Amino acid sequence: MKTFLFLFLSFISTLVVGQSTVNSVPNPKENGGRSYVSNPDQILDADNAGLIDNICAEIEAQDSFQVAFVILQSIGTEVPKDFAGRLFNKWGIGHAGRDDGLLVLFVMDQRRVEFETGYGTETVLTDYASVQLQQESMIPYFKSGDYSQGLLSGAQAIQISLSGQTVDRFEAQSLEEEEIRLEQEHVIESQNNTRSLIITLIVWHAVGLILFLIALVIARFRNDPYDKYNTIKYFGVWIWAVLFPITHIFVVIFAKKLKQRYRDMIRFSGRTDEIMRKLSEEDEDEYLNRGQVTEELVKSVDYDVWITETSDDVLVLAYRPLFSKYSTCPKCHFKTYYKVYDRTVIMATYTSSGKGERKHECANCKHVDLKTYRIPRLNSKTRSSSSSGWSGSSGGSFSGGGSFGGGSSGGGGGGSSW
Ligand SMILES: [Zn+2]
Repeated sequence: MKTFLFLFLSFISTLVVGQSTVNSVPNPKENGGRSYVSNPDQILDADNAGLIDNICAEIEAQDSFQVAFVILQSIGTEVPKDFAGRLFNKWGIGHAGRDDGLLVLFVMDQRRVEFETGYGTETVLTDYASVQLQQESMIPYFKSGDYSQGLLSGAQAIQISLSGQTVDRFEAQSLEEEEIRLEQEHVIESQNNTRSLIITLIVWHAVGLILFLIALVIARFRNDPYDKYNTIKYFGVWIWAVLFPITHIFVVIFAKKLKQRYRDMIRFSGRTDEIMRKLSEEDEDEYLNRGQVTEELVKSVDYDVWITETSDDVLVLAYRPLFSKYSTCPKCHFKTYYKVYDRTVIMATYTSSGKGERKHECANCKHVDLKTYRIPRLNSKTRSSSSSGWSGSSGGSFSGGGSFGGGSSGGGGGGSSW
């Protein structure tokens, strides 16, 4: 019962207030009507409605534009601009091809007048001109409550501004065609871009694969597994997977396995042709000198020791990781030399130079190298010029984007409130 009451009341209030929807606004051209004015709430008096109707008829007879006046009490909470656009398209104001329609929407309770122009009309009556016309010929009357006079004055001003103007059918059409053509070009261009990107990616990864295949072929023709190992060792680094993400995730994994295989590959003594066996990490130390043991300890070099059954031949093979903080010691020549610290003793300023201190030490022979060095004076010129370079490059040159997406057909016009 409550719901029914609510519906009933809202129905009544719609009737009383005269709230219109796009579908409920009476179309003056419907049922054989020849009028241009829709005035369901009788805001416009009959005399002026007739005068405006005559003006609209004259405009169509002389200059072919179709102008419709819709005068409403309320459209509820709808936005007049949206309402006008939908009503315009529903009625199809203006001639097809020329799009030379104009809808004048008057909404009393929102105190708003809105012009909705067709695509062709827009070329003659711009958005700016629409608002200017409203401000000069209509709004002053609306402000003083003389709505009929304001609407008539608006109709007369519209007649003057459209008089002698024509919308070239061909021009309007070719403009649309041009837009479609540009849109198609844009689509083709982005397709081409995608295609060339894919081709570039394929070629790029092919290059990466070929490099690895070349290394594999070279490794294949090397006799000693140690040489085979060294031929492909650089491919077991993850940097490759960054450069060639699609293929080299697998290449790196494969190269790592292959490296281990080459390290474990069966070998024979070069001197006695006897088969050799690889010693375990614990057993190998007695065949390594102190420096080599230190290198293994700090992981700058990994050694494999191969030995014959009779211990006649001992082979020590060094495997160096590609990256290590240890370098060769200038004294004992093992890869056990590292930087302990590198610090600033005196800060450099803009007026004076500073002092730094760097310490190297050998983990094997304990050789220490302590060096001081001069830090050059700070240069204010370099600083300011680099910062101005950044700020200077922003802005400008960025163009080309966003050239589409302008007004759609029938989207032009403008509105004024009072
Ligand atoms: Zn040393």
